[in-house]
Amino acid sequence: MAEFRQVEQAGVERRAMLKGTLGAAAMMGLQACAPAARTERPATMMAPGRKTALVPIRITRDQLIDVKCCIRPLRAAGPNLGSDVVGDTLVIHNYGHGGSGWSLSWGSADIAVGKALSVLPREIAVVGCGIIGLTSAVMAQRAGLKVTLYARESIQQTRSFRASGSFTPDSRVALTDPAGPAFGDVWERMARFSWKAFRTYLGLPGHPVEFNDSYQLSDTPITRRVWPADPAITQSFATSGRPRQNSEFGHYSDRIRDIVPQAQPLSDEENPFPVAHARRSSHMIFNFASYAHVMLGEFFERGGQFVMKDFYSPADYAALAEKVVINCTGYAARDLWQDKTVIPVRGQTGWLVPQPEAFYSVRYRNVSLTSKRDGIVVMNTNPDLGEMLGVGDSMELPNVADIEQGLEILSPLFSPPVVERS
Ligand SMILES: Cc1cc2nc3c(=O)[nH]c(=O)nc-3n(C[C@H](O)[C@H](O)[C@H](O)COP(=O)(O)OP(=O)(O)OC[C@H]3O[C@@H](n4cnc5c(N)ncnc54)[C@H](O)[C@@H]3O)c2cc1C
Repeated sequence: MAEFRQVEQAGVERRAMLKGTLGAAAMMGLQACAPAARTERPATMMAPGRKTALVPIRITRDQLIDVKCCIRPLRAAGPNLGSDVVGDTLVIHNYGHGGSGWSLSWGSADIAVGKALSVLPREIAVVGCGIIGLTSAVMAQRAGLKVTLYARESIQQTRSFRASGSFTPDSRVALTDPAGPAFGDVWERMARFSWKAFRTYLGLPGHPVEFNDSYQLSDTPITRRVWPADPAITQSFATSGRPRQNSEFGHYSDRIRDIVPQAQPLSDEENPFPVAHARRSSHMIFNFASYAHVMLGEFFERGGQFVMKDFYSPADYAALAEKVVINCTGYAARDLWQDKTVIPVRGQTGWLVPQPEAFYSVRYRNVSLTSKRDGIVVMNTNPDLGEMLGVGDSMELPNVADIEQGLEILSPLFSPPVVERS
């Protein structure tokens, strides 16, 4: 809270500074950045003497319309893409994607469907209709298979719909040692395949997938945070069955630097925010509502059947008419398949009213904000915990105060400029 007051004070001083300068900014034609219809406020922001202007985001408490909580299904060795035979049924697994399920969905489905095709079925079942199940189902249809999707819930009710919706392919996806060096190659294959598949949705009506500018902001020079192993922490995944420090998490994103836009430092003039340091990158985002609409549309157009059904044990898979099944049950596989290597990693998102004229993302003091067409997502993380935040926590109740605190931290970034009226 003290930190917030400090930032707020800085914001007040800066607003005082802005008095008298906005007229000049407006004359620079910066208002052109905003569509005429939506906002009555000045379209410019935020710091004086800047060449770049953005529409401020309304970061007030009244704009907060939802807080959603969800569990990331982390597997130390990376997603389970292995198989089991139950009775006369081949079950190919596709679960355990941690914080990267959306991002890796196509590449992971490609591997799972490839395994299914190897036994030459005409029809298959997919169990689970989160992002992994629905993508696997459509992928199998594109390969010519008849598909029945069985699930307790359709995608809008799943954990997948409680994610944030960015391309984050190596977010808590594996632990370096248990996954081993070979996982890097599998990950890269999935990430590259997915990236290419998502690009086929760019520019479609409803914008299921699109890019926006993402600003990383800081009061101090921006450096890449490294988490060295802390020798004082003696436990690890190997000794306790779950990670105990950040240095255990695997990072693979450097492998795809050649295709994913990297952050560039901004000069003071280019930085539209009232903070000293800024970097900008282009970020791929997923709009859940339109993406689900497009995917379900393709699934049903291709003749897919959806059956709402609960599974209680692996034996239920063998009772299905289809003898090849892709199992995409996410975190639920921990109990359903007794896979205790699935580790819960709790996370939550706050959702503000969409503001399409303010279409960009921000990360400042461990709070991230992503402006999407389906809402403005806010996540408040903890600088001291890093990827350990939520590890081992399977409690899926939202903590609204945590999101409110995130809004307070971000709020000074979006203070509207003071307009001198003549
Ligand atoms: C806060 C947060 C933010 C995230 N943000 C991102 C992001 O920006 N980008 C990204 O790539 N990933 C993100 N993730 C991770 C992503 O949400 C998950 O990796 C992904 O949702 C996993 O999808 P899934 O299809 O495997 O599982 P789920 O979405 O859980 O789907 C499981 C399906 O199986 C069905 N099912 C389960 N058990 C049974 C049963 N017994 N009988 C019948 N049906 C059953 C369910 O009904 C459901 O249809 C985020 C996660 C969190 C927590």
